[in-house]
Amino acid sequence: MSASPLLEKLIKSLQIMPGIGPRSAVRIAYHLLDRRREESVQLADTLKEAVEKIGLCSHCRDYSEEEVCPICASFKRKQSGQLCVVETPSDLLAVESSGNYFGQYFVLHGHLSPIDGVGPTELGIDILIKRLSAGEVKELILATNPTVEGDATASYIAALAKRYNISVSKLASGVPLGGDLDNIDEQTIAASLAHRRPY
Ligand SMILES: [Zn+2]
Repeated sequence: MSASPLLEKLIKSLQIMPGIGPRSAVRIAYHLLDRRREESVQLADTLKEAVEKIGLCSHCRDYSEEEVCPICASFKRKQSGQLCVVETPSDLLAVESSGNYFGQYFVLHGHLSPIDGVGPTELGIDILIKRLSAGEVKELILATNPTVEGDATASYIAALAKRYNISVSKLASGVPLGGDLDNIDEQTIAASLAHRRPY
């Protein structure tokens, strides 16, 4: 039992973060209180502002505080005619940091998983269909994770794109089976983009 209920509350709150158990939470709480209280207040303010203001871009569903994010707003990217579909914002970041892709994105925020109640609606497929039917997308690049669910999602989206006569390709292998895109080094992603194959 701690002498401060507020400290206990802080320790409990910190444990919502991935990989942070009770012991790490205690260490972080003491660190935040021991020194640099000004920075801790800044962290709290930024966290609050980010949670309140960051939503999803209405075009690509990446996190953004704008209605349309800078990537979607870029004329050059639009002109490329390429649309890369990824499962998570961190996958987008991984493809982006490979430095080899200059098209647009669409973030699913997951994959089809009927058991967990995740269907086309949860993945924003209605928004994706709007984009595919607008005639601006020439090539759809599937960069879902190479898992059973990721592959099922990819084949569902590929069928949609073909309805609009959009050519569909998939990242080349080199991405280890069952692995997440964001755990893979930039060169591997760049290579799988360069050697993508028709789906
Ligand atoms: Zn966007």
